[in-house]
Amino acid sequence: MVCKKCSETPVIKLPNSNISLCKSCFVRYFEKKVLKTVRNYNLVEDNDYIGVAVSGGKDSTTLLYLLHKITKNRKDIKLTAIAIDEGIEGYRDISLANLKKFCDRYKIILKVFSYKDAFGKPLDEILKINKDVVPCSICGVFRRYLLNKHSKDFGFTKLATGHNLDDESQTILMNFFRRNIKASARLGPITGVINDSRFIRRIKPLYFLTEKEVTTYSYIKGFIDKYMECPHDSDSYRAQVRDMINDFEAKYPGTKHSVISSFLEFLPLIRKNIEYKDNIKSCSICGEPSSKEVCQACKYFESITK
Ligand code: SF4
Ligand code: ZN
Repeated sequence: MVCKKCSETPVIKLPNSNISLCKSCFVRYFEKKVLKTVRNYNLVEDNDYIGVAVSGGKDSTTLLYLLHKITKNRKDIKLTAIAIDEGIEGYRDISLANLKKFCDRYKIILKVFSYKDAFGKPLDEILKINKDVVPCSICGVFRRYLLNKHSKDFGFTKLATGHNLDDESQTILMNFFRRNIKASARLGPITGVINDSRFIRRIKPLYFLTEKEVTTYSYIKGFIDKYMECPHDSDSYRAQVRDMINDFEAKYPGTKHSVISSFLEFLPLIRKNIEYKDNIKSCSICGEPSSKEVCQACKYFESITK
């Protein structure tokens, strides 16, 4: 088998099609697809100050590299990388060290905020003391809280995340399985326009690229020597949904793309019918957006400080 475009040795067979591409043709294909998403959905606009949520993993490192590449010659656009240190020894400490090197290499400003500073303890310690807490539940809530809070403090106009097509198809199904359609209104390549200063719009330039494609791109580019996996990853609900979709994809290629395409057809209807802004109050303790009187981050914080 040879590269569909130039007859070189292929490095990847594209998911959802029968096309194989060599290194350089794949890199071109990948970057073109990201640019197309950025343009089609207006992910980057004049005078933007974009925060890029990074972890040192392959998705967010790829995202940061490409957003930097796309915006570096634009004088009106600013970019800052923002990372959260959950405090997971042997994982986050290593990925953050790699990330710092990467940001130094490309001269990108990196700001790191930790659970220890914000909530008094690293995740490792929280989990040791609170045996009944589900790691990814508390971790996800605390991370979203810190990202949202600091994005506002910095004055970001948008917050870019490294979510890819696999992540999004998992989230869509998870929301269906948990009957949480309201949460799906906030999905898509860019979150809806809400005229509310408490929300920073999220953008996902890697939205239409699969995990396999992002992994291949990041390895070809050699951004980071070794990517780490969180030790709690396999325990999560998401991991089970991921295994299920992967199984389906192997049997019925194109399943993930179909989930995304079907969802994008529904999304305008979901957004129209769910006026989630009206249901969003401000947390009575911290002032962050919340659907309840007290936000989940403050509830978790209270439970770990008891
Ligand atoms: Fe946190 Fe779970 Fe992600 Fe690990 S896998 S960083 S515990 S959300
Ligand atoms: Zn709160």
